[in-house]
Amino acid sequence: MTQPIGLPAPPPIGETALKPGTFDGVAVFVTGAGTGLGKAIASEFARLGAAIVIASRKVEHLAAGREAIEALGAPVTTVVCDIREPDSVAGAFDAAEKEFGLPGVLVNNAAANFPVPAEDMSPNAWRTVVDITLNGTFFCAREFARRHFVAGTPGSIINVGATYAWTGGPGFAHSAAAKAGVKNLTESLAVEWGPYGIQVNGLVPGLFPHEDMTDAILGNLDRTSDKDGCQPALRVGQRQELGWAATFLASPYGRFISGHTLVVDGANWQRRSLTNPQVVTVRDQMGKGPFNPDA
Ligand code: NAP
Repeated sequence: MTQPIGLPAPPPIGETALKPGTFDGVAVFVTGAGTGLGKAIASEFARLGAAIVIASRKVEHLAAGREAIEALGAPVTTVVCDIREPDSVAGAFDAAEKEFGLPGVLVNNAAANFPVPAEDMSPNAWRTVVDITLNGTFFCAREFARRHFVAGTPGSIINVGATYAWTGGPGFAHSAAAKAGVKNLTESLAVEWGPYGIQVNGLVPGLFPHEDMTDAILGNLDRTSDKDGCQPALRVGQRQELGWAATFLASPYGRFISGHTLVVDGANWQRRSLTNPQVVTVRDQMGKGPFNPDA
């Protein structure tokens, strides 16, 4: 009898599919690259010769990102930036240009997220997540494109998404709605800016646990799944797999791919049937007790 074996493990961190030096002379601006998947994506670009610009709010995250890229021997600069603020985004691009020239690649990786039943979600929580994930992505893309328009140079944008952009995300209504916006924005911008040489794609990680995940996200994972066994691949993603996909999309070998959102999740998001596991409300999953409008 055929035994389930899952999808094979990828090659180890440090290997690359693209030619060494593929991104020599290219600056890659990655938001939120001081932690988790942003750091992993930035590292794969760095291995291929890119100079890395890390933009995010917290100095300790920027320091961690810098350390990771320096350990690879690649040029790196960090800039404090809140992507919700267009002026802050413009300042970050000024700093990047001063250091390395205009970045040729923008990875919109930064996002915010935490689980909460929709009926408990404060207007401020909704606004904050949408502001960072959707508005921040647009502000960075806009700044990048306007500078390339002026310079008359091509560029590549990768917007990091999430699979609940298609399916909805119970317990994550704010983030799911924002990521659906990011996917749609990717398609609009790819058409609008293609004539000017700007390629715009989406990149969607499935489940990629990492040490920088917030307690709220890790707690939700621990409550709701056994991680490997609930994936058709019988394993979660390894961070270099996402980085490899990002470098391919922005490489010379991916230039005719635009307006596409690539899902890297071992087909987990396509697991749907009419008899899914028993419904457990988001309140029950989170141990929230009955709804209290005064809480
Ligand atoms: P993470 O470690 O929490 O990273 C989020 C990053 O965004 C942080 O470095 C944070 O840095 C930055 N950030 C947040 N708000 C910002 C703001 N206003 N301005 C600038 N930077 C800001 O998350 P992750 O797991 O690596 O996720 C990375 C991306 O993958 C996100 O887009 C996420 O939605 C997506 N994703 C991840 C998974 C997964 O399994 N990990 C699954 C699906 C999708 P500062 O705090 O320094 O600002």
